Amino acid sequence: MSDTHPKHERTLVVVKPDGIQRSLVGEIIKRYEQSGLKLVGVKMLVPTADFVEQHYTLDPEWRMKTGMKTIESYKKKGKQPPSEDPLAITAIILRNLTKYLSRGPVVAMVWQGMHAVGIVRKITGGTEPLTSDMGTIRGDYTIDSYEVSDVDGRAVRNLVHASGSVDEAEKEITHWFKEGELIDYRLINEAMIYDKELEGILRA
Ligand code: GDP
Ligand code: MG
Repeated sequence: MSDTHPKHERTLVVVKPDGIQRSLVGEIIKRYEQSGLKLVGVKMLVPTADFVEQHYTLDPEWRMKTGMKTIESYKKKGKQPPSEDPLAITAIILRNLTKYLSRGPVVAMVWQGMHAVGIVRKITGGTEPLTSDMGTIRGDYTIDSYEVSDVDGRAVRNLVHASGSVDEAEKEITHWFKEGELIDYRLINEAMIYDKELEGILRA
């Protein structure tokens, strides 16, 4: 199969400091692993605030998009946003995020496989744990909300980061991993997912 086959899609997952402190690393890895995706890189580190800020602003549009989305979500709930300026809102979110993610060790991983980005987002669940579906990591293992995190002046604690698109994943993987830290290897399980003929199961 060529290198452009969909089985080569990759995505970044970061288990945030609350995931480590809640002893959920094994459970989180298990969920992605059991899907059939392949782990091709993993490491533990304590990111600096600058590194976290760079991560969130790899997309130059992120500040504006996140600010606008947040203002809209306040208004949908009939609430007044802290500012009408999207960039001012994002400045608060970014300050809280850099603090949250640089407070302790995180585990960064790269998962590879067909639809890796979409499958990982599905397993991870929606951003706000209060409304993430049951059966997802954020829905099953934590209880935070935007409302309480905003009142307390901190980032919403949602255990993991997962890339939002293939383009975002490519940029984020380059930010977190050097070339030699990702391993290109064959996983026996992949045959059951990708082989066309499924030969060799029955003895001749
Ligand atoms: P994710 O990809 O599911 O993590 O979500 P986004 O990329 O949309 O947002 C990145 C981070 O910004 C989230 O993990 C939250 O910490 C924060 N964030 C996004 N939207 C909101 C919001 O409406 N309110 C607050 N307080 N934080 C938000
Ligand atoms: Mg995102």
